[in-house]
Amino acid sequence: MRKSPTAETLLQLTLQRAQELRAKRILSVQIALGEMADLTEQALRLQWTALAKATLASGAELRIRRIAAELQCMTCFEKYHPSKGALFCPKCGGVGAKVIAGEECALEALEVK
Ligand SMILES: [Zn+2]
Repeated sequence: MRKSPTAETLLQLTLQRAQELRAKRILSVQIALGEMADLTEQALRLQWTALAKATLASGAELRIRRIAAELQCMTCFEKYHPSKGALFCPKCGGVGAKVIAGEECALEALEVK
């Protein structure tokens, strides 16, 4: 499985992008965060605040767009939302599901001044 970027990687990307835009300040940052990403919203916010101190991103509003998880059964192709850690298909009971959405953890937008 692909490893999600960490809060540090996301911040580095943000600062790099801000530099390209010759930003004086970063007003807000939008990050897409899937339900099944390694990072939780709370952990991301905590780490971000600590890491962003003394950088251009200090005080920027962190907007997190949550993306719901969606799986697709590889047996009957039913698409479903995994409930309470149960990963089997609600239609046929199959366990070979593929993740369609919900593992996202990426920088989506940046608002600078
Ligand atoms: Zn199925």
